[in-house]
Amino acid sequence: MTDPKSTGPASLRAADIESAAARAAAKELADGTGPAAAARAAIAVADRVMAGLALNPESGEVVAGAVCAPGCGWCCHQVVGVTVAEEEMVEQAVSALDAEARDRLARRTREAEARLSRLPMEQWQGARVPCPALEEARCVIHASRPLPCRAVLSTDAEICRRWLEGDDVKIPLLAVPRRVYSLAQAGLAQALAAHGIPPGPTPLAETLAMILG
Ligand code: SF4
Repeated sequence: MTDPKSTGPASLRAADIESAAARAAAKELADGTGPAAAARAAIAVADRVMAGLALNPESGEVVAGAVCAPGCGWCCHQVVGVTVAEEEMVEQAVSALDAEARDRLARRTREAEARLSRLPMEQWQGARVPCPALEEARCVIHASRPLPCRAVLSTDAEICRRWLEGDDVKIPLLAVPRRVYSLAQAGLAQALAAHGIPPGPTPLAETLAMILG
């Protein structure tokens, strides 16, 4: 039971969000539609919660306070941890790309891998290596981007830019989407584990290397 004294609307509904995502994902797994469908079901739950809060970025409405927009990919230089269900969803999105786009993605993946392989894993997050899916500041798998990508909405693009350039600043992230999409991913992982599927996470760059390797 969630503590009613917790702060903010997302905290108040945390247990509900996680279990709703777990139920929706588990239904897909039980129906045999596969892990990618389970990931989409968990995303849909989080999107509905956001829509209920009038904060849904997919609806075309601007999230209150967020400055994120197409063509602004400062934040896509972080390590994204994906569940095995999100991996399958990403794999489907990659398969839908045309051959040239897939080749470019494969090249960027090799570059990211080469850079990351020279570092211990604990330094990956701070290394600011661009996500291989980022092409000219746009995500080539945007509609199928993993849950952690959906969680990141900034209130100041200039600070994001400075963060990327190595300044000692903290990206000002909106708390609600961060919480909602993280809870949805936790629910998805829960459903996968309950179905005997090790959920992960795996860094997205490794997933892309596996898909494109
Ligand atoms: S998958 Fe797309 S949204 Fe997520 S970090 Fe990579 S480029 Fe950015």
